Amino acid sequence: MTLQTVVESTLGGQGGLSSRLSDNLSGTLAIHAPATGEWLGDVRVPSSEQIAEALDRARAAQARWASTALESRCEQVLLLRDAIVDRAEELIDLLVREAGKPRQEALVHEVMVVADLASYYAKRATKILAPREIDLHLFKHRRSYVHYTPRGVVGIISPWNYPLLVPAGEMITALIAGNAVLHKPSELTPLVALKLKEIFDGTGLPRDLYQVLPGAAVTGAQLVEARPDQLFFTGSQAVGRRVAAACGERLIPCTLELGGKAAAIVCEDADLERSARAIVFGAFANSGQVCVGVERVYAHASLHDALVQRIVTLTEQLRQGDPGTAMVDVGTLISAAHRDRVEALVEEAVASGAKLRAGGKRRPGPGFFYEPTVLTGCTHDMRILREETMGPVIPIVRVASSEEALGFTNQSRLGLIHYVFTRDKLRGRRIAEKLQAGTVMINEVLTAYASPELPFGGIKDSGVGRIHGDEGLKAMCETRSVDYNRGPMFKREPLWFPYRKRTYATMVRLMRAFLRSGSPLKKAIDLL
Ligand code: NAD
Repeated sequence: MTLQTVVESTLGGQGGLSSRLSDNLSGTLAIHAPATGEWLGDVRVPSSEQIAEALDRARAAQARWASTALESRCEQVLLLRDAIVDRAEELIDLLVREAGKPRQEALVHEVMVVADLASYYAKRATKILAPREIDLHLFKHRRSYVHYTPRGVVGIISPWNYPLLVPAGEMITALIAGNAVLHKPSELTPLVALKLKEIFDGTGLPRDLYQVLPGAAVTGAQLVEARPDQLFFTGSQAVGRRVAAACGERLIPCTLELGGKAAAIVCEDADLERSARAIVFGAFANSGQVCVGVERVYAHASLHDALVQRIVTLTEQLRQGDPGTAMVDVGTLISAAHRDRVEALVEEAVASGAKLRAGGKRRPGPGFFYEPTVLTGCTHDMRILREETMGPVIPIVRVASSEEALGFTNQSRLGLIHYVFTRDKLRGRRIAEKLQAGTVMINEVLTAYASPELPFGGIKDSGVGRIHGDEGLKAMCETRSVDYNRGPMFKREPLWFPYRKRTYATMVRLMRAFLRSGSPLKKAIDLL
């Protein structure tokens, strides 16, 4: 299948669209490999009319999909999972070339996590979405339950750093819940999304259930304007705010998965070797372009120097290079502009007094490589400690106590995830519960996102809402309640019209008896 056919197939499905595609397009994206500069293909961008048509087709497909039993939807999603596993090498090749990430990360951090998430939800969905009986505490003569219905058409706007993991996880969850999906991938990595679409179509699942709309900001904005029934946005704070405002105007419920500034707090009783290795992995996986990546380290003064030494040694052992031709540990940054930004943050920190202990340079030759970098003596007036870096940099701060580290960590407006290193699990939990983030991991890094049972998402400026866990599947649904009479009905309820003085007086007495602390009747009931 040529790229052109792939792109047309993502929008078509019903035939007859190709002729319109050629004269009704708003542009083309040229995609290049960030590690080599190699041209990988051109991708056609749909017009706003085509997006509206895609939404109409998605609605029709969704109505049929929602009427199939949940168990059957789960079985069909497992067909998609199997196809992803069978064609993993095709996805991995593209993830390596288009996103410039090491092969092992493409396999383990993207393909395998998606396949596992599909297995998890396919097995658990009937339990999570089972209608739930609700015991009303007041109206005992009534019976109630909640049930979950699909939202309809779910829009997914995704970033470039995990071009498969982020949208595929959300797409699978959305489909299981009975929705159709319109997916706007990042303009930097649409080929992975188009490959996913090709694999999806090969499973026999209705083609219009999952459609890909390649494009940049304008396409994302047009997707919101088309009014999907729910939006899942993953990306930066700045764009997240704009998308949330656009959704707000249209009253489209939206979940925002935004950036983080994960701190690693290394307590004086931490296992030094494990902490150093975890920090190096957590900071340099995917060249640091990870929303949950370690972005700052607060090291207790008693082990600071030894920890820095070990981090520097481990950093110098990392193999960096083109992941398309060699088994490397660290690949490239995604773009020239992004490398410029990372470089500027490091240079600013060094100019303000930080000490460069490793890296700190771009690599000569093609690609946007920036060396894994370690900085010490960082202070909070430096942007490298305050803004999300999304690059291979570990700024380290010496602290006198874990309380000081906690204070520094919580100063940030970002609260996606943080890490604590200590041999004392209870102490770790106490610190974790005081940290302002959606997730805290103790003596481990990154894997929380890969555990589909754990609700994931940020607090403060790191996001709104949750993916994963029971909450993540339910977020793809409307929660509705039904309430009906248990036994025979009377012609009239005592509180209906007409209002009477006697009823009013009785209600006052009941309110005082049941809805106020101190009343003997209430005390007796509370004891029951
Ligand atoms: P970005 O905000 O620049 O872009 C994200 C997506 O939004 C892209 O598809 C982009 O084309 C689209 N977009 C841009 N302007 C838009 C608009 N006005 N309307 C609608 N869509 C628009 O982010 P990025 O640079 O692609 O991704 C990096 C960011 O994503 C980082 O901040 C990272 O932390 C975050 N991220 C968060 C998570 C998480 O789960 N919390 C996961 C991965 C990445």
